[in-house]
Amino acid sequence: MKTLKVALLGCGNVGSQVARILIDDAADLTARTGARLELAGIAVRNPEAPRDVELPRELFTTDAEALVESADIVIELMGGLEPARTLILHAIGHGASVVTGNKALLAADGAALYEKADAAGVRLAYEAAVAGAIPILGPIRDSLSGDRITRVLGIVNGTTNYILDAMDTTGAQFADALAEAQRLGYAEADPTADVEGHDAAAKGAILASLAFHTTFEMANVSCEGITGVTAEDIAAAKDAGFVIKLLAIAEKLEADGTEGVSVRVHPTLLPRTHPLAAVHGAFNAVFVEAENAGELMFYGQGAGGTPTASAVMGDVVTVARRLALGGHMGVEAASGHFPALPKELVTTSYSIGLDVADAPGVLSAVAQVFADHGVSIETMRQKSHSDAANASAELRFVTHRAPEAALAATVEAIKGLDVINSVTSVLRVEGV
Ligand code: NAP
Repeated sequence: MKTLKVALLGCGNVGSQVARILIDDAADLTARTGARLELAGIAVRNPEAPRDVELPRELFTTDAEALVESADIVIELMGGLEPARTLILHAIGHGASVVTGNKALLAADGAALYEKADAAGVRLAYEAAVAGAIPILGPIRDSLSGDRITRVLGIVNGTTNYILDAMDTTGAQFADALAEAQRLGYAEADPTADVEGHDAAAKGAILASLAFHTTFEMANVSCEGITGVTAEDIAAAKDAGFVIKLLAIAEKLEADGTEGVSVRVHPTLLPRTHPLAAVHGAFNAVFVEAENAGELMFYGQGAGGTPTASAVMGDVVTVARRLALGGHMGVEAASGHFPALPKELVTTSYSIGLDVADAPGVLSAVAQVFADHGVSIETMRQKSHSDAANASAELRFVTHRAPEAALAATVEAIKGLDVINSVTSVLRVEGV
């Protein structure tokens, strides 16, 4: 029986659990792969630091480069761009297959890494990079490869889902929900990557690349976070039967006669009856629409050391099986050539909140602006604030699908009307 040497880079939240599984479940892993998986070493910055899991001290090293050179499989769980990128390239150069959960690196530089891996005939696997424990990349890449995916909607960031869900349940403002998420450990001290949507955008780029067989990187993703979502937006959405979720969306669209793919992240109103509306707390879910399969949903824990280690180990077993049996690792087929559509060309429905003077003729003035820009209104709700010193009203419009550029021009023109106090929110709507 073959022995495969496994090098682990990083022993933090995820790496420590991967090390535990490799050691504790060695017999099962051998039965499933047909090879012995030997944990050859664990590269960290500080070998003396306490770990979440009791592990043999002699496994630890600071010489990641030397460790990689002796390995058949390298598991990269250090995170960050460097030295992760250099070490992955070093591993590929030495003929090792690589398993990683590093979405930031893949979204920034995935294409170059996949190319190197393909050229070297080794595998670069990254199931853990999107939605933690949820096996979503395998189904998109393999199970649905005989179908045509048309759209992917993902709640792929647990922190923002936790915050928006808390705002929806308690009526809290964003800042208070964020502070609570930080207190409970769902949000980091510096929450920028999560609340500004950057983490979801990295995952969106990876999902889009696999779903549409075309390489998309972070630069192709238009991204808006949740810092501008107010308790009033959430309450108005609730009133109208919607919930607000931060979605990573990848969809095939035709714009200006060109078929392309829109990849975007933004707060989105979803009908409360949509399956994604039932995803609460820090959970993740990915909703896939395909021509033949129809609608599919994948749900589970999107983060956490142990759940994420499950996804990492799935990749390790797949790679080890292939190494045990021999044969080519299989190429990432980037056969599609869809251009990334700029957000100005994307058509979506919008919810627009206005604070207006409570006076006759306001509604028709606003409606005229929509008509002038070719944006048609699906619904309108009005709430008067009778207790206000100056009588004002809140108007909420939901539009039919319209191009982003037309909507932006509409909003600008509405702002210029005398009767408008302010545009309180502009949010996109999906699933209607
Ligand atoms: P983490 O807890 O911060 O652990 C990082 C580990 O890498 C630490 O053991 C650290 O060593 C080591 N390390 C960092 N820089 C190093 C360097 N220059 N040289 C050697 N070792 C270095 O990270 P994590 O939460 O486990 O995440 C690991 C990866 O999985 C990231 O790419 C992350 O995006 C991805 N991921 C994480 C989750 C999650 O729930 N945590 C979910 C999905 C994907 P020391 O311990 O000595 O400092």
